[in-house]
Amino acid sequence: MNKILNYINGSYQEPITGEWLDNYNPSTGEVYSKISKSTSEDVENAYQAAKNAFPAWSNTTIEERSRILLKIADLIEANLDRLAQAEANDNGKPMSLAKAVDIPRASSNFRFFGNAITQFASEAHESVGLNTMNFTLRSPIGVVGCISPWNLPLYLFTWKVAPAIAAGNCVVAKPSEVTPMTAYLLGEILTEAGLPKGVLNIVHGTGPEAGQAIVAHPNIKAISFTGGTKTGEHIARTAAPMFKKLSLELGGKNPNLIFADCDYEKMLAVTVTSSFANQGQICLCGSRIYVEESISEKFKKDFVAKVSALKIGNPFDGDTTIGALVSKEHLEKVESYIEIAKNEGGKVLFGGERVLVKGFENGYYLQPTVIEVKDNNCRVQQEEVFGPVVTIMTFKTEEEALHLANDVKYGLSATVWTNNLNRTMRLSKQLEAGIVWINTWLNRDLRTPFGGMKDSGVGREGGFEALRFFTEPKNVCISYTDLPNNS
Ligand code: NAD
Repeated sequence: MNKILNYINGSYQEPITGEWLDNYNPSTGEVYSKISKSTSEDVENAYQAAKNAFPAWSNTTIEERSRILLKIADLIEANLDRLAQAEANDNGKPMSLAKAVDIPRASSNFRFFGNAITQFASEAHESVGLNTMNFTLRSPIGVVGCISPWNLPLYLFTWKVAPAIAAGNCVVAKPSEVTPMTAYLLGEILTEAGLPKGVLNIVHGTGPEAGQAIVAHPNIKAISFTGGTKTGEHIARTAAPMFKKLSLELGGKNPNLIFADCDYEKMLAVTVTSSFANQGQICLCGSRIYVEESISEKFKKDFVAKVSALKIGNPFDGDTTIGALVSKEHLEKVESYIEIAKNEGGKVLFGGERVLVKGFENGYYLQPTVIEVKDNNCRVQQEEVFGPVVTIMTFKTEEEALHLANDVKYGLSATVWTNNLNRTMRLSKQLEAGIVWINTWLNRDLRTPFGGMKDSGVGREGGFEALRFFTEPKNVCISYTDLPNNS
């Protein structure tokens, strides 16, 4: 059986304890590989490799760092089919999605930061009249930790490690133990691209063991984490006494506000995607739909018609739009929320049942589920389900829509459908979310800041924000004197 090994100091290594975790294929429900169950000892080895690599890597020219990142990007692209297949096997997502989104984006992450680092510059402030010049010296932090979740495995893993190494840091990284395969395969690509050994070390294992060892390591100075809000809170508690720099990208419960004056057909098509792409397992999915009352009956009918036409199937069928959920535990969690919603008065307009896929009967398949709710305080409105479940509520006025949208503890993204420019500006300013999409969804320009407000996180990734996070700014203040006047 395939073994998912740690990638430390440029080579694949078994975990020191020789212990392994089972890796499930969600589309079949079968164990198909074994994952290194790393402990703090493996993390320490990874840290030592990173520490030893740091002096040379941080002094490597920007051109050379950029060249290696671009080479990694090219190699990811060249391995598109292999990586997309691995992602679909490991995660349950349609292979077509992995091929169109996950793997191209992983390549773009390296390409983007390989280019961005060549343009990254610092400010200078001349104190005119005082004969002083200030400039900001930005240096890499040292050894940093990157921890990522299972929903967009290689996409989010590379979104962290690419800016970290571009900025001259060395990394100890851990992908989710639920979907470690593509991060494992990345090791081969790093070697082939000529990334010096020790610059990027990939350790596999559970969150409480390997992940915790990274966060608790006294000399890993910054942690970039994407995952659940509860885990983020725990990480913040662990890191706070050591004053580590933290970037936390956490959960979401994102509103999708639909006004009667929108471009209806475009809204309908995109809303199906924003509700159920990746089986609803994207932190940015618009899981709370609020629709203006005057079009709500038509919307519910048209939306359910489109959702019922989605094809649920094994990830490798070309026409599958909804694959398997990532794990049995997650499937059961999502189902429990459907029950909670029903018990709290929610009305299931479509879905809610498991699906048996022929030849894949033990896979974790669930119908896309649409639930009408009346009360914004019910649990399915307030808590992150992170599966193929959306709720629908109606509103009468813009004020009411805004209130409902903001009335949760999360603040990651919001989507608004309207053709009223004034409303667009009013809502963009007042919505409590790190990203507001107007008449679109998941439209990403990698130069933009990415992150959440409230319980959705702290800090921003993307563009120069990521490079700022992975560098330590230092103010250098130079006082100079004028030449003595000889006359
Ligand atoms: P999770 O928090 O369970 O795990 C995320 C990662 O953290 C995994 O690698 C895990 O092993 C590790 N981990 C767990 N406990 C740890 C600990 N004590 N110390 C260090 N590391 C630990 O999240 P998940 O279930 O993998 O992912 C789903 C969550 O991620 C959802 O809440 C989703 O909204 C969120 N998410 C957020 C974003 C974003 O950009 N804001 C993007 C994707 C997913």
